[in-house]
Amino acid sequence: MNDKTELEKFLDSIIENIPDMIFVKDAAELRFVRFNRAGEDLLGFKKEDLMGKNDYDFFPKDQADFFTSRDRAVLDNKKLVDIPEEPIDTKFKGRRYLHTKKIPILDEAGKPLFLLGISEDITDRKKMEEDLRIIEELRAIDRMKSEFITIAGHQLRTPLSGMRWTMNLLLGGELGPLSADQKSFVQKAYETNNRMIGIVNDLLSADHITSNKLKYIFKPSDLGELIDRILPEMQAAAELKGVSIAADTKGLPKISADASKISVVLENLLENAVKYSKKGGVVRIRAAKKDKMLEVSVIDTGIGIPKEEQQRIFERFYRAANAIRVEPNGSGLGLYIVKSIVEKHGGKIGFDSKEDAGSAFWFTLPVVE
Ligand code: ADP
Repeated sequence: MNDKTELEKFLDSIIENIPDMIFVKDAAELRFVRFNRAGEDLLGFKKEDLMGKNDYDFFPKDQADFFTSRDRAVLDNKKLVDIPEEPIDTKFKGRRYLHTKKIPILDEAGKPLFLLGISEDITDRKKMEEDLRIIEELRAIDRMKSEFITIAGHQLRTPLSGMRWTMNLLLGGELGPLSADQKSFVQKAYETNNRMIGIVNDLLSADHITSNKLKYIFKPSDLGELIDRILPEMQAAAELKGVSIAADTKGLPKISADASKISVVLENLLENAVKYSKKGGVVRIRAAKKDKMLEVSVIDTGIGIPKEEQQRIFERFYRAANAIRVEPNGSGLGLYIVKSIVEKHGGKIGFDSKEDAGSAFWFTLPVVE
């Protein structure tokens, strides 16, 4: 083997191993005279099929027109042309986007001999940039929506509180005596007004809790104590509906939690369990350690969740049809808030449910090692 062949082999191996597509066309007819492996992989054509052919043999006419017009400009102006982005239809990889540089190769007299092309496939980078841009846009929309909810919520709360104050005066007889009928109407308006305040508060807290505005302070906490603290009030409310609540949470390991937020979780799940139970129903709270997590379950024997609606239950404002039937008032925000809190603790939440049989909601929290 002589030196020249060694040199050729050396240059060949360099060209073949460059990860960008490299091609060379003759200046006269723009036919391929050289093509590397990265180019074969990208376009899906074998070198042998390309040699001696031009762009019109492989690409749609509009693309071939574009490529050759650029090639001609490079050769006529004898200057490098940088094409930051050009689409190309490949055989197996669909449409890809290339960043291409086209370079004229001249003879000693300055006459164009060849056109050298170097193309980097920027499709993935372009897609990533596009995804990032969309994410940014969605974030901005989310921020705007959040601001809107906060402003609208606060503006609604003030007149609603004003109305409550007026109705309180009326009901308290401070503006003169009311007849029994009048009193009962004002009482109804008072309760509706209160529900509206509740919904506005839910909206504000859902937004607050799920935005990153709320601080979490994680401390070793005793779940049993937490439950004991909220249980009496919950039991009193449940009794009015003829539902009982039983808790079995003795001897549990400490969890790493923000106690006030976990109270919100427990209250919401218990309220739901009671709200969607029938008279005589029983609600059970259970907890057990599983690996490094404590799994807490709130189990009821209530109306359950229809199978076809189960996947939407954690969505904001979503309420299942059977729940709306038994309890027309509700914001559909409770579970959304609960999920957000559990996930901020690094836990998971889920449920098993059967319509007309009952539901078991569970969530996990990290155990303190
Ligand atoms: P709300 O109770 O105000 O409707 P939630 O976000 O707390 O809102 O719950 C969303 C929906 O999930 C409810 O409307 C109901 O359809 C369903 N759901 C939640 N908990 C239960 C439960 N224990 N039993 C049956 N359905 C439930």
